[in-house]
Amino acid sequence: MDVRILFLNTIVGHRFCWERIMMTRKINFAAGPSMLPLSVLEDIRDAVIDFEGHGYSILETNHRSPVFNVIRRELKDRIRSLMSVPDNYEIVFCPGGGRQQFSMVPLNLMTEKGFGGYVVTGKWSELAMEECARLSRAVTLWKGNGRELPTESFETDDRIDYVYFCDNETVDGTEFSAPPKMKSPGVILVADMSSNFMSRPVNVSEYGAIWAGMQKNFGISGLSVLIVRRDLLREKSAPIPLMLDWMKYAKTDSVPNSVPVFQFYVALLMARWVENQGGLREMDRRAREKSGLIYETIDACSSVYVCDIPPAFRSRMNIVFSLRKNELTDDFIKEAEARGMINVAGHSSRGGLRVSLYNAMPFDAVEKLSALMKDFACRHTG
Ligand code: PMP
Repeated sequence: MDVRILFLNTIVGHRFCWERIMMTRKINFAAGPSMLPLSVLEDIRDAVIDFEGHGYSILETNHRSPVFNVIRRELKDRIRSLMSVPDNYEIVFCPGGGRQQFSMVPLNLMTEKGFGGYVVTGKWSELAMEECARLSRAVTLWKGNGRELPTESFETDDRIDYVYFCDNETVDGTEFSAPPKMKSPGVILVADMSSNFMSRPVNVSEYGAIWAGMQKNFGISGLSVLIVRRDLLREKSAPIPLMLDWMKYAKTDSVPNSVPVFQFYVALLMARWVENQGGLREMDRRAREKSGLIYETIDACSSVYVCDIPPAFRSRMNIVFSLRKNELTDDFIKEAEARGMINVAGHSSRGGLRVSLYNAMPFDAVEKLSALMKDFACRHTG
């Protein structure tokens, strides 16, 4: 067959296939990996075949090539500008995902005799604390019941090398509205922002380090971003594994080895998308609008649904709630699936329901969920 006809057939075939995918695309309320905007998926589709006309795929792009340097530089610049990251902060990317940072934080910030101070508000801060305790010395500064957040100021002494907290607890559905308050000045605050990264403006200068896994608001699994004050990138008194050393990433401009180019590229597409949509204030406005609608629906149908998190601590990203009659949970999940809404079940450790409304979740999809909740409630009231 003529090569041109073969090419045309392939293009037409792809388009037909893409249209079919669009019609069957589900509304995915997963906590992560989660929905990506359709325009980002379209760019990925094209880049997988031919990356920006280079004649090779993004999947075939070398981690030491000038092409990847451009991707990385643009990604860094966009994060710096979207989050107004001050000049005395470094932005690095670390393969290995979120939990790798649970180990990296103590290994990079702890002094010989110091302690990591942990504010334990839910599953993810607890796991981070356990990893610190496993590797060295951790103190729990505060521990709640998973449905509340601290409001008081913390007293710390100079044995505490840093104070760690999880800004948004993905499993428990709580979110800080401002960083925990410290009585003593100069405490190094470290925040896990994996599940609310790029969802609202952040005053970076209040933190020593902010890190986030990409797979919720900003891309796909396997890569985390770290925004760290430069003076905290220090030589260690005793060696730590090279691939867990933040310095190594800073010194190599985040290319210490064959890093996953594709993950960087998807994050770049997300950065462009967030900017085109109006930036972090707009992401925050949308997040409040979407989560507000679901919390209102829960409260309006309070004989059927319950969210036991006080309003001031409720997450804009992960809405954790349940049915008053637990035996109806599976029916709700099945009805949601029948209407094209998937992954509404709660985390296995908590049960109930959880819907995640990250940046890419459109408002009309949330309206559909609210309509289902109301309809379901009408049929099961009393
Ligand atoms: N922190 C938070 C807040 C998370 O939600 C998650 C994953 N859901 C992690 C850390 C761990 O990320 P990973 O699975 O990439 O290790």
